[in-house]
Amino acid sequence: MTATTPGLVCAHHHLYSALARGMPAPPKQPHDFREILEQIWWRLDVALDADTIHWSAMLGAAEALMSGTTGIVDHHESPSFIDGSLDIISDACATVGVRVNCSYGVTDRHGPDAGRRGLQENERFLSAGGRGMVGVHAAFTCSDDLLEGAADLATRMGTGVHIHVGEGPDDRDAARRLEPLAADNWLLVHCVHLDRELRGTIAHNPRSNMNNAVGYATPSTRSNTVVLGTDGIGADMLEEMRLAYVALRAHDVTESPETAWSWLENGWNLIPEARSDVVEWSYDHADSPWHVAFTPGIRARNVTTADGERLLVDGLPTRFDIDEVRAKAAESASRLFAKL
Ligand SMILES: [Zn+2]
Repeated sequence: MTATTPGLVCAHHHLYSALARGMPAPPKQPHDFREILEQIWWRLDVALDADTIHWSAMLGAAEALMSGTTGIVDHHESPSFIDGSLDIISDACATVGVRVNCSYGVTDRHGPDAGRRGLQENERFLSAGGRGMVGVHAAFTCSDDLLEGAADLATRMGTGVHIHVGEGPDDRDAARRLEPLAADNWLLVHCVHLDRELRGTIAHNPRSNMNNAVGYATPSTRSNTVVLGTDGIGADMLEEMRLAYVALRAHDVTESPETAWSWLENGWNLIPEARSDVVEWSYDHADSPWHVAFTPGIRARNVTTADGERLLVDGLPTRFDIDEVRAKAAESASRLFAKL
């Protein structure tokens, strides 16, 4: 007997970070979230090119599928290769067979011209019929002009803004600046340091928040709809749900796994078609929040789409050779690390 669920959704991912594991140690030991950004992620993203964007997306999407995750809401940044970057990610996900919602995270960190080019990439991708949102890195790296430009573009494109909000203390002022702009279709990522209500869905990323020591986001105390993301640390959503539950429980011992499970289910608001995919799991109660919360190591065995395509059979992808994807991704990662 195996339990089935619909395809799961990772509501906040950074596929570009899939090659980062094993990267060389930063020149200086980071001591807080801002230094983690400066020493690790802002050195990595500037080194990305077409090849590394492609292989990181292939690897990240493949690992998502193998974890029973068939929908990814991605947030991308590659300041040295902006134009066309979202097509590379979208194409890689289509090759693997997972659904993706793409956005390019605009920022003024590389000057206002790069900020404008980021907006243009969102506009180009969405205008061509791509599925996505307008990405913004975070308010603290953007001018008011760029934030307003992103909000206007999202309105024109009939979509929301996908933005990190109050992840670390540097972004404490975000809610005040975003309050006049935010709308119900915005995706507000992290919301650890949020001093007021803001319109939108909150993407909670418990593992990433622990990893960066930014604090607990108390999502259960917010009136917003909450969804679960990994912030780039894989896309194993049952694992993220287990961690979301235990982090919630550390905050409030009266809480239940059903709360964390409901956050997982809310992901289908963002990628509804994932609901029509069928995942068969290695454990016969994988559809029960209380079982999942206390059963590590549940694996996706088979994934079948609504039109009957078997994307995963006995844990292995059917469309591609996972060993080959891992080998090509490792070659691409060596080139990336050499640049760092
Ligand atoms: Zn993120």
